[in-house]
This record gives sequence, structure tokens and C-alpha cells, in this order.
Amino acid sequence: MSFQVFGIPVSRGVAIGRAVLVASSRVDVAHYFVAAAEVETEFARLLKARDAVTQELQDLKTDLPPDAPHELDALLDVHLLLLNDEALVDAARQWIQERHYNAEWALSAQLEVLARQFDEMEDEYLRERKADLEQVVERVLSALAHAQDKGAPGAAAVVARDFAGEDPLLLVAADIAPADMIQFKRSVFQGFITDIGGKTSHTAIVARSMDIPAVVGTREASRLIRQDDWVIIDGDAGTVIVNPSPIVLEEYRFRQRQSELERARLARLRHTPAITLDGQRIELHANIELPGDTGPALEAGATGVGLFRSEFLFMNRNGELPSEDEQFEAYRAAVEAMRGMPVTIRTVDVGADKPLDRMSVNELRHEHVLNPSMGLRAIRWSLAEPSMFRQQLRAIYRASAFGHVKLLLPMVAHLSEIRQVQEAIRRVKQQLDDAGQAYGLVELGVMVEVPAAALMLPLLLRHVDFISIGTNDLIQYTLAIDRADEAVAHLYDPWHPAVLHLLASSISQARAAGKGVSVCGEMAGDALFTDLLLGMGLNCFSMHPSQIPSVKQRVLRADTQRLAAAIPKILESEEPGRTALEVLAQQRLH
Ligand code: PEP
Ligand code: MG
Repeated sequence: MSFQVFGIPVSRGVAIGRAVLVASSRVDVAHYFVAAAEVETEFARLLKARDAVTQELQDLKTDLPPDAPHELDALLDVHLLLLNDEALVDAARQWIQERHYNAEWALSAQLEVLARQFDEMEDEYLRERKADLEQVVERVLSALAHAQDKGAPGAAAVVARDFAGEDPLLLVAADIAPADMIQFKRSVFQGFITDIGGKTSHTAIVARSMDIPAVVGTREASRLIRQDDWVIIDGDAGTVIVNPSPIVLEEYRFRQRQSELERARLARLRHTPAITLDGQRIELHANIELPGDTGPALEAGATGVGLFRSEFLFMNRNGELPSEDEQFEAYRAAVEAMRGMPVTIRTVDVGADKPLDRMSVNELRHEHVLNPSMGLRAIRWSLAEPSMFRQQLRAIYRASAFGHVKLLLPMVAHLSEIRQVQEAIRRVKQQLDDAGQAYGLVELGVMVEVPAAALMLPLLLRHVDFISIGTNDLIQYTLAIDRADEAVAHLYDPWHPAVLHLLASSISQARAAGKGVSVCGEMAGDALFTDLLLGMGLNCFSMHPSQIPSVKQRVLRADTQRLAAAIPKILESEEPGRTALEVLAQQRLH
């Protein structure tokens, strides 16, 4: 039966493929294809792990002390029964043989099928056996991990090159932690659907950086969609169509081809400088998460990196932080790749919906911190961990010897934070001088993402070289909307008059003070806002590389003076969104 699920569109385009349901807790299970010749070996690997766990459970049974409660013995029997039921490992064989899934993936895919059947059972006792099944699968997964050869693929994002699965795969999960998303950068999935999340939640941001269609905040997609269902993701409308009819499918395939053609057309702008009709040169920079993202940035024609979210280097490390040398290598790689163009490295911004480990937003919200967005996040965390912070500063300064590095501080709200950072920088430079290590000139900037920073900008500007406006957080904190909470996503409004006033005044004050200003939040990459920001006087935009061509197209058709004339009317309007679309369109037509 065909049906639709509605959510929040976060990454554009159409994806058509089969649903792969993954429990949030198992998103980090390795997902890769095995070669045709390896299918039987892969199944044998699964059988071996099953046998090892059978043995383990039997040993546990034998070793039970005589006074152990009878229930424990019975429980082990249940686990042995589930483990050896043909609905589990034998059925997983089908996923390996027909789809070439690796053993871990096949097992967790089958678990999702069975878990759904358990959920639908009338009998409460039987329904509760789902937890036992999950425990059994957990044991087999860990047996597989132990047996894993050192060199074999283990990460979530490995694709065997000799198997081009016929059907594209779309990931469906209740939630995906940013730390897991980053593992999917080169993954087998061509689209994402999650129950949780908002337009600028970090999961959505990573999906956008991967340039694949995604819909978040669907609330129940992971409950309604079944393993292997055919699914269409409409990343523009925020719609998910499950088991579409042939006619709907054909319509979307047509749209998919159209958008590929449009992309190819825009890609031709790559070498065209971004200069407006009235001769203003506009910098279009890239937001990156890992040094390897400089490749797509250069391909898209970025003229610098406006935001290197360094916290992604700190994730997926089982609590261990990257050493100074490791960080230095990562920053140097990005700086060298950009060949003299500026690379703006933001100091680590963990906290809020970016925990260091792979906690999902839901876990974080409910179990750990009272209000993570307002807690020990970003620069606050760095200043609370001085030795970690100095290590990061040293790594960044050392990388500055290899190119043009700018240092950006996230979530600044107090002058004292800048002063403390300046003191830390002074000490770091002294240490590098003492060690005879080279470093270059590094400009210091702050992100304007807390209303306090925007409102006290004249004071902050005296102490920094540039500012970068993080609209994702600026909107979140101005409107008191948790950016990761789908329940209030409809109130998250970039066109809100308060947001527009803070944006316009920040841009004009920075320009008047002769300081650099850019916007690196998601507004910068959405072509809907390009005219508005140009009219406000912005000349540096930083965004995902895939967004550069469409923003550049807008820039090439813009006359900044005409757009500037329209801004007062927008700022005075009670409905700035509507007014902006009307008056800015007029400025373009004339
Ligand atoms: C922002 O807040 O706009 C921003 C760019 O930072 P992040 O999205 O990483 O919080
Ligand atoms: Mg931010």
C-alpha cells in the first residue's frame, strides 16, 4: 500500500531507493557490500559468530551456580532458542546473497524485520522478547567484531567497489548522531529519513554537506516504513512516499533527471568569478567538516574555507581526544589543499546537539544534560579545558606556517572570553617561539551567534579582526527555538524581524568598523536569502560546497545597490518574508 510521511526538508533533491531501517543504537554497525565471490565466505563468517555465541551461552548455562535463580537458566534457554531460530541467521543469509550486505548489516537488517513482528504481537510476554532478541544480536555483532581481521572494513561507510548494488539505498532511522553521520560521508546510502531533527540540526547539516536528499523530523517514519520498502525522498518538499505507484515513480524519476541537468548547467559556473552586475566581488567560501572536504570545495569553485568545523575531528574516538600532532596534520592538509586561500578554523564546538561520543540528540536531551544548548558548549567548553584548548591553538598556529589561516571562536557572548583566548594565544606563541616552531599571521574572529554578541558588537569589534555570523544558532537563541527539536521547527524563522535586524546591524557595523564579515550559517547557502544578504552589504558567504553554484548564479544576476535600497522596507515590514520576496524580485527585474 502506498502512503506518505511528512517531515522537514533539509537537503534538496529527489532520491528513489529501498529503505534500510537502522535502529539508532546500531547506526554505527558496519555497512558495506561484499563482492559476489565473497558472499559464501561472508555467510560463513556470520555462522561462525553464531556458533561462537551459542557456545558462549551454553558455557554460561553450565557454569550457573546451583543457587542461581531458575529464571536465569530459562532466560539463557530463550536466548539460545532465538539465536538458533531460522528466522534470524538463516534469514540474514538472504540479505547477504541477494543484496551483498556484509554480515553485520544483514544481521541488523533482519533484526529490524523481526523487531517489527514482535512489536505487533498481541501477547505481552512475547512482545517483551524483543529485548532478548536485541541482546542476542548484540552478542553476535560483538563476536563478529572480535573475529574481524585487522585489515577488514570496519567503519560504517565502506563500499566494495566491485558491487554496484542495483537499487539505491535510503537510510531510515529514528535519529542519527552527528558523530555517526560523519561516518556516512562516503557511504552506500543515497538519502536519509529520520524521525527527529530540525532544519539546522547538525544531522541535517551533515546530510546537506553530503549533498544527498534528506527529510528529518518525520516523527514516525522509522515506525511506518518497513525494511526494503520502495521509498521516494522529496528533499525539496519534505515528503516521503512509500511504495509509490508506477506513475508517481515515473514522475519522480523525471524530476530526478531534471535536477541532474540543472546541476550540470550550474557546475559550468565553477570558474566564473562571483561578481555582481554593479561590479562587487563576492567571496563564496566553503563550510567543511574534515580536511578531505576541501576537494569538493575546490571543485565547486570556493575561494576559501569560511568554516572548518573542527569538532568533527574530535568525534568517534571513544573518548580520546586527537593529539596536537594529529590536529596539526589535519589543519595543515586543509591549508595546503586550499593553496593560499584563507582557511577559517573554528575552535572546537562541542556540546548542544554535538556530543563528543555518538549519543543521539534524544539521549542527550533526556539523559545527560539539562539544557545542552545553553550549557557548557563551544568556547565555554574550550575555556573550561585549558590544556586541550592550548593544544588545539598550537596545532592551528603551527598549520598557519603553511598558508592563510584564520582563527574563529564559536558562541562568544562575553568580552572576557576573547581576553582569555588572547592570553592563551600569547602563551601558545611563546611556547612555539621557545621550541623554534614556525607560525604565520593568524587573524582572530568571533562567531556572532548569541544575541548578546550582536547587541554588543561595537565592543567586540575593537578586539577582533573579523566576525562570522552563525545564523543557525543566532536564530535558535534569538527566538528561543531548539534547532534540533521538530516540535518547534515551524517557529524557527530566518525571516523573523528580530533576526533580520540583528543580521543587518551586525553586517553594517562590522563594515563600518573596517572589519571582515561573513555569514556561515545555513542562510548563506540558501539562494532564497542571497539577495537579502547582498542588500544588507554582505560580501562573504560560507556554505556547503554543493550550494556554491546556485548562490553564485544569484550573485551574478544581482545589483547590490538596488538590493540595498529595498532593505529598509523589509526591515520595517510586519511580514518581512513576503515583503522581501516582492521587493527584491522587483529590484532584480528592473
Ligand atoms: C551556526 O550556528 O550558524 C554555525 C555555522 O555553527 P554550527 O551550525 O556548527 O553551530
Ligand atoms: Mg553555531
